[in-house]
Amino acid sequence: MNRVGHLINGELSYDEAGRQAVYNPATGEAIRELLLAPEQTVNNAVAVAKEAFKGWRNQPAIKRARIMFEYKRLLEANRDKICALIGEEHGKIGHDAAGELQRGIENVEYACSAAELLKGEYSKNVGPSIDSWSEHQPLGVVAGITPFNFPAMVPLWMFPMALVCGNCFILKPSERDPSAALFIAQLLKEAGLPDGVMQVVQGGKSVVDTLLTNSDVEAVSFVGSTPIARYIYSKATENGKRCQALGGAKNHAIVMPDADIDNATNQLLGAAFGSSGERCMALSVAVTVGDDAADKLIDSLTTKMASLKVGAYSDNSNDYGPLISREHQMKVKDYIDSAEQDGANVLVDGRQVSVEGYPEGFFVGATLIDCVTTSMQSYQEEIFGPVLQIVRVTTMEEAMAIIDAHQYGNGTCIFTRDGEAARYFSDHIRVGMVGINVPLPVPVAYHSFGGWKQSLFGDLHAYGPDAVKFYTRRKTITQRWPSASVREGTSFSMPTL
Ligand code: NAD
Repeated sequence: MNRVGHLINGELSYDEAGRQAVYNPATGEAIRELLLAPEQTVNNAVAVAKEAFKGWRNQPAIKRARIMFEYKRLLEANRDKICALIGEEHGKIGHDAAGELQRGIENVEYACSAAELLKGEYSKNVGPSIDSWSEHQPLGVVAGITPFNFPAMVPLWMFPMALVCGNCFILKPSERDPSAALFIAQLLKEAGLPDGVMQVVQGGKSVVDTLLTNSDVEAVSFVGSTPIARYIYSKATENGKRCQALGGAKNHAIVMPDADIDNATNQLLGAAFGSSGERCMALSVAVTVGDDAADKLIDSLTTKMASLKVGAYSDNSNDYGPLISREHQMKVKDYIDSAEQDGANVLVDGRQVSVEGYPEGFFVGATLIDCVTTSMQSYQEEIFGPVLQIVRVTTMEEAMAIIDAHQYGNGTCIFTRDGEAARYFSDHIRVGMVGINVPLPVPVAYHSFGGWKQSLFGDLHAYGPDAVKFYTRRKTITQRWPSASVREGTSFSMPTL
């Protein structure tokens, strides 16, 4: 069976403190073995990166950007291979994996403008013959810890920007689908990145803890579930590191009485069931305003759900694939059970789905649940599966109050034809990313991505302009070249003009 190792100093390393199986979730079979990095290997990766930083920090930004231009070309040239790796280990259908990769590549494109992004500020004559400027200096060695659900895109949110800002990067991919991340990291060498600037270490908690306690790691970017995000943020900051930790989500869509129901149905189907609901921006709750909107929406959803196709990644006619693991499949089914026990109506039930030719796959069929209330466990927690829940309310204010009260605040959306209502909603709702008739308002690469409340710990959002701030630290220099005309005597008072 293929082993999945680490990338240290430009070479693959097969050090191991143990092994863990990586599954094909469509077949349920173990297809690779992940080597768990020993503590010494992780610390060595950091030491190698620290050494490489000495040269990399001084590379002109335009040269670092040129590597990203070539890197973009290589990612595109290897699209099929990367998508196959995503499909084999995550289960995402080919068309969806291609979308994931494309959104990742857009972050590389943004990183190509490093020279522009890193330009500082300059003020001449802030005092007599005194000039002052601010520059963005790289931090040093920075780490990224990423989730299973976007095995290529989320790493690409992080390392292209970190690298062009002059940092060295240690990536710790998800242990459940590590191969795409390892492969895209290997391509950096071919693009011209010097050895040691980018490293990959594989494993789980113990590898993460080693990174969090290594004093040479200056900053940590994390994306994953909220309990782990909270832990990473507190541990990283306790150890003096800069940290951004993006957590889980429960994204609501308000369906207003005047919404275009046909459009709302199409958008909701893709946003609720695409990637089997395993997206942090998945719309998992539809809050319908008025019973009329609810009934029409349910009618339309149930009709169209009958023709959704679930299956393996390799058949591009499938709409979505399996869940990531047997354990997660059981957990999603348990949430559906609990909603039913709590009195909700399961209108379309995906618990017993079977996929021809894949009897052992981790599939759950698209599920629609009506009459969900905010006290139910299935409403309060993130399910992360192909389950859409309907909460019925009578006014938009009530719908907004429900969303505001939820612990998560990642994304939300309103379906309406009323511009005034949409503007009020986007202005006041306590959620970080808002869509108006746009179901997955994932910001493009030149904006930044992040939620509010328990969906993000830290001040700066991921990628885009916030990434320049996160991966650099400001230094302000004040300069004078004393000559006879500007030489001054000693002064003990605060200098003023
Ligand atoms: P996860 O929290 O289980 O794992 C994320 C990373 O943390 C992995 O690399 C994992 O190895 C590591 N990890 C797991 N347990 C750890 C521990 N005890 N100590 C230290 N490190 C640990 O998340 P996941 O299941 O891989 O991903 C799904 C979650 O990620 C969902 O909650 C989803 O909403 C969230 N997510 C959020 C965003 C966002 O932008 N907010 C994006 C993608 C995914």
